[in-house]
Amino acid sequence: MDASPIPASVDELTSRLLTGERAEQIARLVRRIGVADSDAERLEVRSPVTGELVASVPACEVPDVEAAVQRSQQAQTEWARWSARRRARVLLRFHSLLLARQREVLDLIQLESGKSRLNAFEEVMATASTARYYGKHAPAHLRVRRRAGATPVLTRAWEHHVPVGVCGFITPWNYPLTMGVTDALAALVAGNGVVVKPDAQTPLAALWAFELLEQAGLPPGLAQVVTGDGPVVGGAIVELADFLMFTGSTATGRKLAARCGERLIGCSMELGGKNAMLVLPDARLERAVKGAISGSFGNAGQLCISMERIYVHRSLFDGFVSRLAEQVGKLKLGGDLDWNSDIGSMISRKQLEATTAHLEDAVAKGASVIAGGQPQPEAGPLFFEPTVLVGVTPDMDCHASETFGPLLEVYPYEDVDEAIKLINDSDYGLNASIFSGSISSARALAPRIKAGTVNINEPYAAAFGSIDAPMGGMKQSGVGRRHGAQGILKYTEAQTVAAQSLLPLTPDAGTPAAPYAAVMTFGLRALRRIPRV
Ligand code: NAD
Repeated sequence: MDASPIPASVDELTSRLLTGERAEQIARLVRRIGVADSDAERLEVRSPVTGELVASVPACEVPDVEAAVQRSQQAQTEWARWSARRRARVLLRFHSLLLARQREVLDLIQLESGKSRLNAFEEVMATASTARYYGKHAPAHLRVRRRAGATPVLTRAWEHHVPVGVCGFITPWNYPLTMGVTDALAALVAGNGVVVKPDAQTPLAALWAFELLEQAGLPPGLAQVVTGDGPVVGGAIVELADFLMFTGSTATGRKLAARCGERLIGCSMELGGKNAMLVLPDARLERAVKGAISGSFGNAGQLCISMERIYVHRSLFDGFVSRLAEQVGKLKLGGDLDWNSDIGSMISRKQLEATTAHLEDAVAKGASVIAGGQPQPEAGPLFFEPTVLVGVTPDMDCHASETFGPLLEVYPYEDVDEAIKLINDSDYGLNASIFSGSISSARALAPRIKAGTVNINEPYAAAFGSIDAPMGGMKQSGVGRRHGAQGILKYTEAQTVAAQSLLPLTPDAGTPAAPYAAVMTFGLRALRRIPRV
């Protein structure tokens, strides 16, 4: 394993970023969190790579969330009156600014999350793609649609989509920019205000993105960011928002969805996964190995749609495993704030310990480590080698539970029916991948896999990056979808407007009932014969 010691420049560069222009920017971003009480308790944001203090953000309380929701509500009334096309132009300007000023946010993402610069850049790509997609397509998704009326000619009907009001977003630490802002982009362009609670470990990228949106023309106050403890701030958002979009663990999502049910507000839940890759006998071995590596170890495995299980046909298994071990051994771990490392740091000791607990349990029960398996303190306190296990059995903790770290299990299978049964034998159903020499055979298998996205010859980016298509989880992996039409219409209420001309549909008082019923029966029979009515 090539784990280069922390180059002096990592510490130096981090310190330099935290004293110069970037430090001023961070202080300004933190001031955007409007808190009623300026003496609010502070939460520290530290670099996972160097441990250095990056920022301290207020631990907001319930009244701060109430004030944020009110500020957003005030701005939303006027924003909802803007045409969808005018709102969409803000997203397209944001897209241009984001690409032009990406360096700023790459630094911030790396400082707060410890991920590699390439993984940080994936966040910029995903955010730009979402801004471009909704910037171009939101007006079409939101346009008023003519619907068939109750009676031809006499009744005309239209379907409107009106914003729900203020949408709440509770987001995780693993993709601070993508998760912090992309779902909110869809809600904003649909005419809503937003209140966003990023994870307290990683609030800066979201703060930066909302400042940039204001520079792109978003009315001040419409987007509010509140930082603080999950149950306190997140709990208040669930009580006050008109819709909740939650991204995080299944355990938290289940609790919050129950509360949304009690309040009778809509919600969308993007939760955990135990995603599987299927390598068919006709797959190109080298491509499948590369897919396994990028799909399992990107962001140090801390990605909801990353692969944690790989099922390889017995005919390819030995070659696959030896090539995988060889290639994984070449990955470069490092915390540099440049483009030199393949894999960055894990976010926290908690996440590191969860990964090592799964590994130790599996090894104690008989699994074999074929690559990695050790922490890499020379690279930083929270680095862990990308690790591959074979011989995992159902009694091991990692077999069914999400690890959310750089730990991958590889299993052989004999026939495809058996492999699909194993893949579906999971509480989760977020993402899956099939590697095959034939896209049409892989497509034919996809509907048999119970997962919200199925990527062919790619681990996750093909489906996640196809913003025109819905993305989300089946089973315990979620409710609702982001992206595409569903990813924007969920932030609206459907409203039907219908107008009646000439004759009323309901009889006037005093109209003889029996002749009325006879005429209507005749009419219903006639309508049955007219196509498309
Ligand atoms: P988590 O559920 O602990 O936290 C997620 C967010 O919820 C954080 O902002 C946290 O502060 C907040 N929160 C925690 N408890 C809360 C409560 N009681 N009330 C309101 N808010 C609360 O999840 P995590 O461990 O930080 O994130 C990792 C999990 O997220 C993994 O399971 C991963 O698979 C999942 N995830 C899913 C997606 C997806 O799109 N499906 C994306 C990223 C992460």
